[in-house]
Amino acid sequence: MPTMQTIDSPAHILQSIFGYDSFRHNQKQIIDQILAGRDALVLMPTGGGKSLCYQVPALCLPGVTVVVSPLIALMKDQVDALVLSGVKAAFLNSTQSISEQAALSEQLKHNELKLIYVAPERLVGQDKQFLQFLKTIPVSLFAIDEAHCISQWGHDFRPEYRVLGELKDAFPDTPIIALTATADAVTKKDILLQLHLKDPGVFENSFNRPNIFYTVKPKRGYYEELTEYLEAHKNDSGIIYCLSRAATEKLAEDLVEDGFQAAAYHAGLEKNIRDERQDLFLKDDIKIMVATIAFGMGINKSNVRFVVHADLPKNIEGYYQETGRAGRDGLNSDALLFFGAGDVIKLKNFAQIEGNEEQTKILLKKLDQMVQFCETKRCRRKYLLNYFGEQASDNCGSCDVCLSSKTLMDATLIAQKFLSAVARLNERFGAGYIIDVLRGSNSEKIREEHKKLTVYGIGKDLSKDEWHHYAKELLYEDYLQQSNSEYPVLQLTEKSKEVLFKSGKAFLNLPQKQIINKEPVIFQQHAYEKELFENLKRLRNKIAHEENIPPYIIFSDSSLLDLATYLPITSSDLPNISGFGTYKIERYGAAFLEMVQDYCIEYQMATRMELKGPPKKKVTKLVKEKESDTKKLSYEQYQQGNSIEAIAEKRGLSPATIESHLSYYIQQGKLNLNEFVKHNHQELIKAAIEKHGRLSLRKLKDNLPDSISYGAIRMVLNSIPVE
Ligand code: ADP
Ligand code: ZN
Repeated sequence: MPTMQTIDSPAHILQSIFGYDSFRHNQKQIIDQILAGRDALVLMPTGGGKSLCYQVPALCLPGVTVVVSPLIALMKDQVDALVLSGVKAAFLNSTQSISEQAALSEQLKHNELKLIYVAPERLVGQDKQFLQFLKTIPVSLFAIDEAHCISQWGHDFRPEYRVLGELKDAFPDTPIIALTATADAVTKKDILLQLHLKDPGVFENSFNRPNIFYTVKPKRGYYEELTEYLEAHKNDSGIIYCLSRAATEKLAEDLVEDGFQAAAYHAGLEKNIRDERQDLFLKDDIKIMVATIAFGMGINKSNVRFVVHADLPKNIEGYYQETGRAGRDGLNSDALLFFGAGDVIKLKNFAQIEGNEEQTKILLKKLDQMVQFCETKRCRRKYLLNYFGEQASDNCGSCDVCLSSKTLMDATLIAQKFLSAVARLNERFGAGYIIDVLRGSNSEKIREEHKKLTVYGIGKDLSKDEWHHYAKELLYEDYLQQSNSEYPVLQLTEKSKEVLFKSGKAFLNLPQKQIINKEPVIFQQHAYEKELFENLKRLRNKIAHEENIPPYIIFSDSSLLDLATYLPITSSDLPNISGFGTYKIERYGAAFLEMVQDYCIEYQMATRMELKGPPKKKVTKLVKEKESDTKKLSYEQYQQGNSIEAIAEKRGLSPATIESHLSYYIQQGKLNLNEFVKHNHQELIKAAIEKHGRLSLRKLKDNLPDSISYGAIRMVLNSIPVE
């Protein structure tokens, strides 16, 4: 099979359209396979980046890519996201009018669309009309999303997928890429068989979700723990799964009463209410969805930060799938399960299928494995991966078990402090009193003579809880013993005398780490500006509201995090920020840039773009700024004699945005910088840039006369093309 004719390179598309600098996992190999005209089956976990595996080839190939997808909501989301990146994409489904559909056919006929999303029944149904139509236009690729739906062995069989077997016969020379997040071997084989794929490349990935932190907590009294967690994650959005409809409503109600933005979702609600709530959740207007498992399929929201199971899931498959909805954007996310024995009894009853012993047995076994997961003393990630037939290391370092696993350390100094206090207090006190003395407590309970001891206050560096932990450890390891008297006191042992008087060492376990992350820890090499990150989210929400699209489609949380970490301050920095493709930079770049600039000015911070490594010059060079309608409008209004402030006012944009629009025309030679910045000021600014670099606006400002404004500095910065 000859390599297919292409109109652009994958690396360039990745950078200029999607704004990413490198391929993930085996995306590159998969794309190469497609561009060589061959079929592929892609197995990748949720959030792995399946979409790019066909979206990039779609843009490299000359014709249209037909994407088969089972859910209308998903299609719409994907198409919205593509359109926002400047890609010509559309979907065809039954919700559209005849005239809309006819218009799309016209576009297809003229090869004006790069991707068209359709439901399977639409593709092959209706006497194969659409299939016949596709034969008359250049189709470059078929992509079958959620390909496991074709298999009866999968967990989500859809009979309408079966007809897709006809595709290969109808289009023998057009490559097919099938994608799924389902792992098991039987389904995999079945997909290959049913789709009649020809000598396909099978691309498997680990099903590990490294950015999901797994935690299981006891269910007794869980509400308090839950609200404490939610309180610490007030800005985040997440899903809480409950077993029953009634439970979702009750919990949502309680949470709302306690001041959280929550709503219930289950199949018993009217469709319009469900749709409305889902929409509010996608738009971050409802932060917490309390739902039955009816919620989630087809939710593409990338910034779900936590998934809580308030009740026990029925099996590992369900648990993995539900928790998998967290962290699609690759940022750290939590999976928190509250486990109680009562749920096990309830679910055991549900598993009884009358007249079907076989099925009952399977269900009970799966439930049992779920319980084992909760009770395991070994790494939870390893348990999950082994369950799906994958190898894993013993300690993942990011589940509750691994984090609390005991690590002995040399705690001689700590032991010496504690044991000296025991000795100085003549072995006549309990742990509480000893710790108060160590921590230098002013309490009246502490006798005056004890406040004069050398050990008084030498343990201020540790908290009470930490000292109690070490007291227990010292007892456990026989460095101390407890008297059997009515008021037990701590006494020294032979072992402790070694440590106190003979340079013996004491090895103890570290205190358990906080099990639930109180602060979201983010997978990120460098520190980021939290306040700026929240402000950027607010800006994104505002724009999303104005444009009536979900915020995560504009930029993912990870793009905003990149901004808040690397602090780009000139427009030439933006192509190096993850998720900032040419089209999005044009449309939103100035607004986000300005916010970062203002923050840097306020807090006197310099850019950290240099931490990102050298700019990807070769590719960014291709990303020439283009004239857009919005820039043109600013330019025209300026030509008509309006001031920058007036244009900003009129257009509801900030002056800095208008400046950035006009600097494009300065670079193009259509406007003269002299109109905006006095010549001698320009010279001063350029000299300052030469001397201090373009890293910090604040620094430039501080090194220039007061009469030179930030606007002028920005204008000059923007007008100097970056080599
Ligand atoms: P899946 O369909 O496998 O669940 P998606 O295709 O939705 O995953 O991708 C998940 C997220 O990862 C999206 O926000 C996507 O833009 C992002 N992503 C995909 N590939 C890359 C890449 N090479 N570099 C950076 N981000 C990527
Ligand atoms: Zn682990």
